[in-house]
Amino acid sequence: MTLASNASTSRPFSFDNSYARLPQQFFTRQDPSQAAEPWLIKLNELLAEELGLDVEALKRDGAAIFSGNLVPEGADPLAMAYAGHQFGSFVPLLGDGRAILLGEVIDRNGQRRDIQLKGAGQTAYSRRGDGRAALGPVLREYIVSEAMYALGIPATRALAAVSTGQPVYRENILPGAVFTRVAASHIRVGTFQFFAARGDTDGVRALADYVIDRHYPELKDRDNPYLALYEAVCERQAALIARWLHIGFIHGVMNTDNMTISGETIDFGPCAFIDEYHPGTVFSSIDQGGRYAYANQPGIGQWNLARLGETLLPLFDTDAEKALELANTVIQQYGERFQIHWLRGMREKIGLATVEDGDLELIQSLLAAMQAQQADFTLTFRRLSDAVTPGDGEALFLSTFREPDGAREWLGRWCDRLTRDEGRTEADRRAAMRAVNPAFIPRNHRIEQAISAAVEEADFSLFEALLAVLAKPYEDQPAFAAYMEPPKPEERVLQTFCGT
Ligand code: AMP
Ligand code: MG
Repeated sequence: MTLASNASTSRPFSFDNSYARLPQQFFTRQDPSQAAEPWLIKLNELLAEELGLDVEALKRDGAAIFSGNLVPEGADPLAMAYAGHQFGSFVPLLGDGRAILLGEVIDRNGQRRDIQLKGAGQTAYSRRGDGRAALGPVLREYIVSEAMYALGIPATRALAAVSTGQPVYRENILPGAVFTRVAASHIRVGTFQFFAARGDTDGVRALADYVIDRHYPELKDRDNPYLALYEAVCERQAALIARWLHIGFIHGVMNTDNMTISGETIDFGPCAFIDEYHPGTVFSSIDQGGRYAYANQPGIGQWNLARLGETLLPLFDTDAEKALELANTVIQQYGERFQIHWLRGMREKIGLATVEDGDLELIQSLLAAMQAQQADFTLTFRRLSDAVTPGDGEALFLSTFREPDGAREWLGRWCDRLTRDEGRTEADRRAAMRAVNPAFIPRNHRIEQAISAAVEEADFSLFEALLAVLAKPYEDQPAFAAYMEPPKPEERVLQTFCGT
């Protein structure tokens, strides 16, 4: 059955669409396309409740709504305009080529959230693309974005996944799907670039005012609210990218159109988590130069934020030289901001509550030993939590390293340092470490297994199991111990691909 998109009587959302009230050059109105035979794979009921949605109505009408076949009452569907630097090259017009913003709701905490369909058909920005998404990337984004949330890292969320019953044509013919994404907003660095590239300073200002209102209302009364906005975005991105490094996350495609102004992680295309630690790790098949390698992420963050600063220059000061000087001061502080967040988190990971000058070196030498001995990033830190009591857990920790001598020597220095980190019992220290060092991350081989079963056999049980395990990443879940394990040699995933 196919419902006409205007045959809407379903009202599971109380929409309040502020973006649709912005000037018309911000977006293009666009209804979703029809899907042949939609089927609801997954509805995130907890998130739906958090958003204040009518869960029963969504269980009933979810296939139609989340496929795009039924536009719910109050929605004002549109595709957002944006530009972006892709791998360093500027593209003045990108925009939502396969995403349609249904509208915004105010959640139970009073936060405005976007509800967006990804893969619901072509828009004014589709260029040669079909506006569709394949099932694999949809499941991948569902798994990873929800895992990030459970890990405590700002990220867009997954509200639903729907199978369209329609094939999509890539290198192979694949089953089609639509992903429903929830975001604090979908405004990107590239959204600012869109207006700046057209010399539309009024557009940049209107966007900045909108962003301050929506994401940074506390900055409204500052002397120079636009400069304060720039500082605030730099601060959130510095904090976010530090969190990525703490859990071994590689975004994979940190183009300026994939960097949010809200500070949420967005676009889980070729992203992946590190198994064996190496700072140069790259998974994305299209990142041949390693531009977005694990350890390059803080620097690329700064590069992207410099591009944001350029778009805001006319708002910082009417004197161009003065404006540039102000922007430079902010962007130069980014490195320090990042380092503070990164070091604070790394101290927590190795169980330190106090600060000493030698801590950075201690952390770096652990990372060096991990790199030299191909230690699994996640297991190293989780097992270190259990090595707090001398004797206990040490052997297991050391077994993470191929050749354990360096790690053994490091453990000695670490134990020494702990004796000067006073004021906590061993049990408290262990608990604090376990709360920041996950046992479970969405390992690439597990994601691939879940996707293969779904795509090849329409078996979603691995997808469901993975979601269940990853919902509690910091808890020991003995029944799922196998999900902690790194891939066996034959299970290793060496490359990940964009969802396009
Ligand atoms: P992404 O790699 O997801 O960040 O997308 C980069 C750009 O390509 C965005 O403007 C997308 O809207 C567009 N795009 C990606 N896939 C498709 C598709 N299947 N159809 C149309 N546009 C697409
Ligand atoms: Mg994108």
